[in-house]
Amino acid sequence: MLSWSPNCGHCFYCLGSRPTLCDTYTEAAGIGALWDGTGRIRTPGGEKIHHFSQVSSFAEHMVVPENGCVPIHPEIPATIAALVGCAVTTGYGAAVNDANVRAGSSVAIWGVGGVGLNALMGAKVRGPAIIIGVDVNPEKEAVAKRFGAIHFVNPREVEDVPAAIRELTEGRGADYTIECSGRPEAIEQAYHSARPGGTVVPVGEARKEETVTFPARLLPDEQKRIVGSYYGGGVPERDFHQILGLYRRGMLDLDALVGETMPLDRINDGFRMLDEGVETRSVVVFD
Ligand SMILES: [Zn+2]
Repeated sequence: MLSWSPNCGHCFYCLGSRPTLCDTYTEAAGIGALWDGTGRIRTPGGEKIHHFSQVSSFAEHMVVPENGCVPIHPEIPATIAALVGCAVTTGYGAAVNDANVRAGSSVAIWGVGGVGLNALMGAKVRGPAIIIGVDVNPEKEAVAKRFGAIHFVNPREVEDVPAAIRELTEGRGADYTIECSGRPEAIEQAYHSARPGGTVVPVGEARKEETVTFPARLLPDEQKRIVGSYYGGGVPERDFHQILGLYRRGMLDLDALVGETMPLDRINDGFRMLDEGVETRSVVVFD
């Protein structure tokens, strides 16, 4: 299985048990190169091809850093491994590592898509009492509930999202809010929907120029924790095995995430379905 955020194992962050902040990875990923700053793939004309995110996604041939290539149990289907290498680990880890959801708690998740559904499934493994899905697409209500949400809030159908979340959580707000859409207004909703002392986990990537605004006074007074989450926030190579172990024991229904499989030349259909908000993941299968 491939990791898009392998780590060097010896920089400041790797030694500090934060491998998703690895200096070597961050530098190489920023320029689309391998860890020595160079590339290995060229067009027949000699033009450089970038190594997108250390995995060269959608390529039939690739060179990857050795520890970005993780051996897994041979029974695991490649379609499942492909999803665990990206969206599953990102969402699951946001709930399990960064939010660190506790049994009996309340969790609200914004963006019931590829990552958000996995945050929902990850949270569910921890046994919260209340899971709330939040999405502007009304069709996501059924999806969220099928994957374990108890309530659903559509920001286009309620006037005040944090008030709607408080109403579902004994007036307090959720213990954990996990934001997977990357929309600034959703990040602000997630902040205001967490209870005082609660944990806010931004996962979705906003555009670089976008900003969010919080009333300055609330930051100290409400004592909330804001925990940014990237690739699940833990140790990806360890978490892959944890997730696949739960899958093999029937505790994570990753099969339900796999939608249409398609050859590489239909990849644009897959992107179109992603744009349309199709609930399952399209997976490219190489011959
Ligand atoms: Zn490192």
